[in-house]
Amino acid sequence: MSNNAELATFTGWAATAPKAPLEPLSYDPGPLGAEEVEIAVEYCGICHSDQSMIDNEWGNARYPFIPGHEVVGTIVRLGEQARGLKLGQRVGIGWYKGSCMHCGSCMEGSHQLCRSVKPTIVGSHGGFADRLRSHWAWAVPLPDGLDPALVGPLFCAGSTVFSPLLEFDIKPTDRVGVVGIGGLGHLALRFLNAWGCEVTAFTSSLNKQDEARRLGAHKVVASTDSAAMKAIAGTLDFLLVTASADLDWQALIATLRGKGRLHFVGIVPSAIPVHVFNLIPQQKSLSGSPVGSPSTMATMLEFCARHQILPQVEQFPMSQVNAAIDHLRSGKARYRVVLDASK
Ligand SMILES: [Zn+2]
Ligand SMILES: [Zn+2]
Repeated sequence: MSNNAELATFTGWAATAPKAPLEPLSYDPGPLGAEEVEIAVEYCGICHSDQSMIDNEWGNARYPFIPGHEVVGTIVRLGEQARGLKLGQRVGIGWYKGSCMHCGSCMEGSHQLCRSVKPTIVGSHGGFADRLRSHWAWAVPLPDGLDPALVGPLFCAGSTVFSPLLEFDIKPTDRVGVVGIGGLGHLALRFLNAWGCEVTAFTSSLNKQDEARRLGAHKVVASTDSAAMKAIAGTLDFLLVTASADLDWQALIATLRGKGRLHFVGIVPSAIPVHVFNLIPQQKSLSGSPVGSPSTMATMLEFCARHQILPQVEQFPMSQVNAAIDHLRSGKARYRVVLDASK
């Protein structure tokens, strides 16, 4: 173990008020916890949740606040009780950076469901910075063969759409729909295509049709086209909602076959008005899930390395983080923005 890399202060880019541009901020991280690791940040993706936190959309932001939770870097310090990791090893840290490690959820490997799970950017500073710490279990090693400059978004967006494939035992023979083609949806299309499923992309307009096919969709349906929606009624096994808009949920549920599931990973703004008669006769389900566990993330990374699945990203120097956030706010990001901490 070496303290050569110890920094007295960490420096990052902080919002000082809701919707404010980010400004440089140095802070004292305190002593390294026994079970913590410290990483030198190389890259950090920008997620819509970063924007929501900067804007205090969920009411839990405290300022100043450094966003960033799609972090890739190398380990520069290991706490005395950190396990399974080496100095210099490249890892990623996502939406969560710690959990209690002893509750039922943690003990069964569902650390992401721990009641005291620690979000990386709620109540502490995140990865738009030179350094970040996490519990060792939540620093997930990168396998060889994945470009570290592109991989960051897998740790939040990627694990969010990959986890349901394992949780709900999606089979290669399944017909799966993906609603919304953005940061999450474009990865879902790539995963499901490599998984072997027949993949249908649902978009608000058919403008994105060619793009959806390029990303792995076999079929593209405009969710506003009621004739097209009727034509696929009763055909899908699983429908993954990555969109963040209110949609015609009854029409989407009607595309499911018996025992089909409408599953939410995108934060849609309003409550979902569904009568149980839409669920009971065909034994359909509604559900939602957060990011994956550390073990699910490791499985996802192995799958991504095998099939060379990476997010489609646009890169910005971290010194131009405000331009990068403006680009995200404009809705023009295709499909994820990644900050390079060396620039
Ligand atoms: Zn995120
Ligand atoms: Zn726990």
